[in-house]
Amino acid sequence: MGRAFVYVILGGGVAAGYAALEFTKRGVSHGELCIISEESVVPYERPALSKGFLLPEAPARLPSFHTCVGANEERLTPKWYKEHGIEVVLGTWVKSADVKRKTLLTATGETISYKFLIIATGARALKLEEFGLTGSDAGNVCYLRDLADATRLVDVMQSCIGGNAVVIGGGYIGMECAASLVINKLNVTMVFPEAHTMARLFTPKIASYYEDYYIAKGVKFIKGTVMSSFDMDSDGKVTAVNLKDGSWLPADMVVVGIGIRPNTALFEGQLTMEKGGIKVNGRMQASDSSVYAVGDVAAFPVKLFGETRRLEHVDSARKSARHAVAAIMDPEKINEFDYLPFFYSRVFTLSWQFYGDNAGEVVHFGDFSGNTFGAYWVNKGNLVGSFLEGGSKEQYEAISKVTRLRPAIEDLGELEKLGLGYALAE
Ligand code: FAD
Ligand code: NDP
Repeated sequence: MGRAFVYVILGGGVAAGYAALEFTKRGVSHGELCIISEESVVPYERPALSKGFLLPEAPARLPSFHTCVGANEERLTPKWYKEHGIEVVLGTWVKSADVKRKTLLTATGETISYKFLIIATGARALKLEEFGLTGSDAGNVCYLRDLADATRLVDVMQSCIGGNAVVIGGGYIGMECAASLVINKLNVTMVFPEAHTMARLFTPKIASYYEDYYIAKGVKFIKGTVMSSFDMDSDGKVTAVNLKDGSWLPADMVVVGIGIRPNTALFEGQLTMEKGGIKVNGRMQASDSSVYAVGDVAAFPVKLFGETRRLEHVDSARKSARHAVAAIMDPEKINEFDYLPFFYSRVFTLSWQFYGDNAGEVVHFGDFSGNTFGAYWVNKGNLVGSFLEGGSKEQYEAISKVTRLRPAIEDLGELEKLGLGYALAE
């Protein structure tokens, strides 16, 4: 049993949604494109799951956040895919791939063949078990990667309003979920091994601003240690989190956000890998010329840095997906992907954006006791990264623009003095 398509997108997340829109803009014919996804719904804006979806009042629910509303584009509902003749195979896990034969085998036993394959399998959340711990299957331990996880998290959260939540991990999931749990009136303690939150991006000074803000909202931080085990009740629910430093925390629920691994397993040994992802060229094309990889799973050349990177952010998923489709459908016209990395987050009433690379020396600017502040990173004499909290649209555009230009910086003191004014004047 099998079906054949010209184009197949494996994975039905953010990148798949943006790729589908790009295919239709470039004139795909009915019946040529197929999307296969393990999820039970058509592509949606995953960032909503740790933000609007968790709000106690008027929470975001599908169909309101299907792609591509996050980029102010058309919202692609199931009806849209139907009208455009796109076959969407939902609730279906692809269990193997044969790159030489250009086929995918689904868990339901169907073989789907392609002329061009776009791998958009994203990533999975790392489990405690991968760190030698146990307890992920407890009734009140939550992860957050997809709609099913988010729905479960909301159920668990609503069952323990006023109780204690322990958040394991001080990264993006930890920070955004902690804020949502506070808004839902839970007492939150965050536990993570590093000296401060968001250790891979924030400087200690930036982190301390957010931590002070969280503390004022009632969040407690336990840094420099990790959990060692859970105490459980007879219903299989966690009642306390034991830490390596010997202390323990009472818990009515636990949220775990300890990083991800890209879903590359189907292609190990068939495609070249790098940085934990599928290595692609500036056209998002993998080591087999019929295969493209986009989003979290792709390790692509970032021209601006002169090296290959794998990014785990929604903007790169959207843009790499569009680029791959352009490269497939208009190969003569397309240039190398020239991407400026962009990360952002929104928690409580705070909102920051980051562009570029956080390498080299840091120059902070602005009012760290007020609402607007930021930092520049200067590496080998050039400005390579910019961070801004509380900026206006124009200010964010200015730091984005200046970061792409990579201007030479001779005097760090002068840059510090000019602060945001430097970006605005460029
Ligand atoms: P995904 O969106 O993860 O999609 C992968 C899809 O592939 C899924 O549907 C999955 O089920 C499917 N799949 C995988 N393997 C198979 C298989 N074998 N068979 C069938 N289907 C398969 N980034 C930001 O920049 N800003 C944010 O504010 C932000 N918030 C986030 C909040 C949350 C809760 C999460 C989890 C992530 C957030 N991110 C954010 C990251 C961003 O969502 C990801 O970078 C983005 O979703 C990556 O898109 P993708 O299409 O590569 O992968
Ligand atoms: P992150 O990589 O952001 O953070 C994971 C954190 O957990 C790190 O601080 C890590 O420390 C820490 N950690 C690792 N092991 C342990 C442990 N055993 N106990 C306690 N802490 C531990 O991953 P997240 O899980 O927060 O996010 C998952 C994905 O979702 C990422 O791809 C992220 O980009 C994406 N996301 C993005 C958002 C955004 O862009 N606004 C919002 C939400 C999610 P160490 O660094 O030492 O390993």
